[in-house]
Amino acid sequence: MRKLSILGSTGSIGRQTLEVARKAPEDFTVEALTCDSDIETLYEQIVEFRPRVCSVVREDKAKELSGRLKSAGIDTEVLSGRVGNITVATLDSIDTIVGAIVGFAGLEPVYHAVLKGKDIALANKETLVAGGDIIMPLIREKGVMMLPIDSEHSAIWQCLKGEKREDLDRILITASGGPFRGMSRQQLESVTVQDALHHPTWNMGGKITIDSATMMNKGLEIIEAHHLYGIECSRIDVVVHPQSVIHSMIRLKDGSVLAQMGKPSMVLPIEVALYYPDRGPSIVKEFDPFEAATSNLTFEACDTEVFRLVKLAYETGDKGGLYPTVMNAANESAVRAYLDGKIKFLDIERTVFETVEKMDPDIKNMNLTIETIAQTDKDARIYADELIAGKIKS
Ligand code: NAD
Ligand code: MG
Repeated sequence: MRKLSILGSTGSIGRQTLEVARKAPEDFTVEALTCDSDIETLYEQIVEFRPRVCSVVREDKAKELSGRLKSAGIDTEVLSGRVGNITVATLDSIDTIVGAIVGFAGLEPVYHAVLKGKDIALANKETLVAGGDIIMPLIREKGVMMLPIDSEHSAIWQCLKGEKREDLDRILITASGGPFRGMSRQQLESVTVQDALHHPTWNMGGKITIDSATMMNKGLEIIEAHHLYGIECSRIDVVVHPQSVIHSMIRLKDGSVLAQMGKPSMVLPIEVALYYPDRGPSIVKEFDPFEAATSNLTFEACDTEVFRLVKLAYETGDKGGLYPTVMNAANESAVRAYLDGKIKFLDIERTVFETVEKMDPDIKNMNLTIETIAQTDKDARIYADELIAGKIKS
């Protein structure tokens, strides 16, 4: 039985994790839940799963939730703020955390959970992009498990099972191509937030949906795979596969290509992570190769001249150090601004490129520690926000 703390339980991954836990109460206990501010959803989850502890980042919302729980006679303890997240990630009563917070905010609780010897089921790719060089060695040092949830990385993990690492030649990471696949730069100038939020195959949180539209999501995933599987970014190819049936492939040194397939649903990769090394029950409808939608599988290259953030991810991923941290932070700021209607679609890319360029001299020779990562993330956001506010002219 896994004893879970689910960080970011009200989001898309958090809710699907609870779907897995709901199906098999004999296999999981839900000890703790957290969110940023959506206490309506969190309240319902607490009523159903009765965790010992929960945490809400916003203090006013935490107080409100605490009052509601008391009135209902529910004794779940309510914590708040950054400290609340860390407490919930390091409870003695848990063995596994599910990292389903969106963005860099997920790194700190994951770091503390590893220090405390917890297994990490990780959806939050920004944690590895910004802090992979610290987190992965710590995972090995502490002897805990890193259980990938991101569907591509779950696919790669499953394909690699039983293979010798030195036999891995390349990773072929698949991408749906997002809502703007095939568009020109000129067409991208005028796409709206509504267009960008309309993903063709996946139903996800707002930030990752915009990342899928810019293809930054694939860029982040290349760096995520580099950390998880110890392979250089230059040995990871992006394969655009609009049907999202093959979740990724590996090529071995003899030329064999192994793929993992399934319907586009995150429930299965969550389940694979949480049951590892066993296999859980069938929860999602099985993949049927004869269904019309899946009978025609196609593959194409990613146009990195149109979706330039993918190219930048290869560059920052190869440089390593604090470069991916800066790229990730600038991207988070820019995506927020785009969702708030402050900038246009291609300004996301412009903001990220300019922030990486501007911060290059500052970060070039900086040591990599958890503190320098946090400080660099802050600095990059400040620079990106000033760029967005028009205080800095490019
Ligand atoms: P979401 O926006 O739907 O949910 C995010 C969750 O994080 C919410 O519960 C929110 O309250 C919480 N949160 C935000 N800031 C927080 C903070 N500072 N402290 C505590 N909680 C906080 O996002 P999502 O789509 O579920 O994605 C979560 C992560 O999983 C992202 O890193 C994303 O890239 C990754 N991921 C998501 C999917 C997917 O299908 N949704 C697939 C693969 C990977
Ligand atoms: Mg993915």
